[in-house]
Amino acid sequence: MALEFAAFWAVTYFASVTIMISVSLVLVEINKRHPERKIQARPQTHSTRKDLISSLKQNMVTAFCLTIGIFSQWKGWTVTPVELSWWSFPLFFAISVILHDAWFYFGHRLLHTKAFYRFHKPHHMTITPSVWSNDAGGSVDTLFAHSYYALILFVLPMPVLSFLAHRLFDQVSAIIGHSGYEYFASRTSRAPFPMICTTYHDQHHSEFIYNYANYFSWWDRIFGTIHPNYDQIVQGWEANGGTRPPMPKAKHKANV
Ligand SMILES: [Zn+2]
Ligand SMILES: [Zn+2]
Repeated sequence: MALEFAAFWAVTYFASVTIMISVSLVLVEINKRHPERKIQARPQTHSTRKDLISSLKQNMVTAFCLTIGIFSQWKGWTVTPVELSWWSFPLFFAISVILHDAWFYFGHRLLHTKAFYRFHKPHHMTITPSVWSNDAGGSVDTLFAHSYYALILFVLPMPVLSFLAHRLFDQVSAIIGHSGYEYFASRTSRAPFPMICTTYHDQHHSEFIYNYANYFSWWDRIFGTIHPNYDQIVQGWEANGGTRPPMPKAKHKANV
């Protein structure tokens, strides 16, 4: 059985790394053609090589979590999944994305407390994130975000295809979220809509204490941790036709 598990893990790792490298390379090429869409004016503050080496390591941890979930369902150790159909696929995909966003938000808030920040600090060495920064960090940090994939199939009867589609969406959106270039600023990525654009997580890297969520802004809005200028900056991108807008003066709240 250990060999079977190792084979699943190896395939999952290979798939994760392939997606990471191919999506990142495509984005790098697109970004080269659009310097006007760069979110931060300052130059990159960290080493791409270090990010890449760290990402290759952290993908082992992520693949391990994914393998626990997939392997356990395959063996019949989890709750029995609902049969795959035209309605079960999107329904469980949506449920899983919403649940993971909550998991990520509260775990991320915990990682920013005094007791846990040391595990998250390596990821925050990146002030100006790039496509290669998404997975860069420490293993405890990665486990906080991705242990969800090891556990969720034990409580949610999700077809494995919905599970894999969610992970693919998570990986691609997170690479875009770290890319440092804005393509998704629109009316639906700001209040009153819960969607977000690339600026959202970029602000988390440049200012540390805002925008903790992964896919939606609702938890940050409810708990008052959304960047005070986020909506205004998104409007600026729209008004400026996709070119970096003049940044509004900082309007920080005290003691967030
Ligand atoms: Zn953080
Ligand atoms: Zn990040």
